[in-house]
Amino acid sequence: MVQRLWRYRSKAHKRIIYTFNALIAPKAIFLLYFKLNIKEMQTQDQQYIKRAIALARKGMDSGAGGPFGCVIVKDGQVIGEGHNEVLLNNDPTAHAEIVAIRRATQHLQSFQLNDCIVYTSCEPCPMCLGAIYWARPLKVVYAATKHDAAAAGFDDSFIYEEIELPVARRKLPIQQLSTEDAVEVFSEWKSKSDKKPY
Ligand SMILES: [Zn+2]
Repeated sequence: MVQRLWRYRSKAHKRIIYTFNALIAPKAIFLLYFKLNIKEMQTQDQQYIKRAIALARKGMDSGAGGPFGCVIVKDGQVIGEGHNEVLLNNDPTAHAEIVAIRRATQHLQSFQLNDCIVYTSCEPCPMCLGAIYWARPLKVVYAATKHDAAAAGFDDSFIYEEIELPVARRKLPIQQLSTEDAVEVFSEWKSKSDKKPY
């Protein structure tokens, strides 16, 4: 005969044990699973960040541009990646994130990075940050900070400062002209029946 290891001391005791089993135990298991899952995600994040850093080094060593790399991942698969190609293509917009976004959207045949994660070797500059917002990924993971980049000679703080200033006080002369014609195009867009909103 199997001997019971312990018995309920009272009805209240039994109720407490039942409540624990019914409410707390599943939550504890869920939390443990969640914690393990987070750990696995962090490991994956680190792998993709390492890949972005390797791309940064590759781009730098080949003379393509500055030491910046970017990897875009969807459902655990790399769908676009690249490094800075500013010097290679004489293109001031060919930052790693822009290069990777273009490749990823081509791959997806979509102008949006739905459910994608952008891994970048360095905190995005204002241009890339804007492009990332337009591309609407799930999230961004970056390694080095903009301060690290500034210390290496890639200082984008002046752009952040310029954006905050009124147009008239910016270093770059910016002038507004002919608003009526420009607004007319918006009216046409609004009434365009066959447009694809995005
Ligand atoms: Zn950038």
